[in-house]
Amino acid sequence: MSRRKQIYEGKAKILYEGPEPGTLIQYFKDDATAFNAQKKATLDGKGVLNNRISEYMMLRLGEIGIPTHFIKRVNMREQLIKKVEIIPLEVICRNVAAGTMSKRLGIEEGEKLPRSIVEFCLKRDDLGDPLLAEEHIHAFGWATQDELDEIIGMTLRINDFMLGLFAGIGIRLIDFKIEFGRLATPDGHQVVLADEISPDSCRLWDSETDKKLDKDRFRRDLGDVTEAYNEVAMRLGIIKPNPGTPPNLSVVTGDK
Ligand code: 5GP
Repeated sequence: MSRRKQIYEGKAKILYEGPEPGTLIQYFKDDATAFNAQKKATLDGKGVLNNRISEYMMLRLGEIGIPTHFIKRVNMREQLIKKVEIIPLEVICRNVAAGTMSKRLGIEEGEKLPRSIVEFCLKRDDLGDPLLAEEHIHAFGWATQDELDEIIGMTLRINDFMLGLFAGIGIRLIDFKIEFGRLATPDGHQVVLADEISPDSCRLWDSETDKKLDKDRFRRDLGDVTEAYNEVAMRLGIIKPNPGTPPNLSVVTGDK
């Protein structure tokens, strides 16, 4: 790993130069941060679980025709991905009020929204990822109208698909954050899903008990963070249930 050129280090992932031009290696760290990195921890095994869960989501979304940056998982913490120019937007899709929407608009957490809502935030940690109006995106040239139309269309399709997928395993998809990138093509570029989809970037509640199975366990000091991620991976069928001590990482790490 040390011989590779590091391209970028984020809060939860590192990007290295890939083996071929136009590719990168995405490495999933165990680091967790919240509230603009004011809260930090290392959660053993989180990177391994997120790598597996994100691989699964990217593959399933690819199968329904969502273009993604994902090529293949190469080991327990790394994926080979296509190099893209990241569009500097956090695209958030919400089905149920929670988090900043509940705070901002005074809607109780857990209240079902009248319809799914797509929001945009600027990817700027130093500004706390501020909420944007589409006008800002156009005026400052962060994305074109065509790109934004594609992003909204893909986000709603991703939401529909994930709502059904998670409902089938007893999980409510409350909201999620995704990112998109521009992939160079011979005649311009294509907008593709990038980054990751994992319990770090989604709110996932158990359908029966409302138990949080996502990063809010870390943000809100609820404990058992990796155990919850493990539960999501197990319900998705990515790792096998094992009555051993959770998280059952021997199963995860042993299975490339
Ligand atoms: P909220 O705006 O309520 O804090 O977050 C809405 C959704 O987007 C949640 O599922 C949350 O996990 C995700 N999200 C928002 N900002 C970020 C971010 O900077 N990083 C990650 N990984 N997820 C985020």
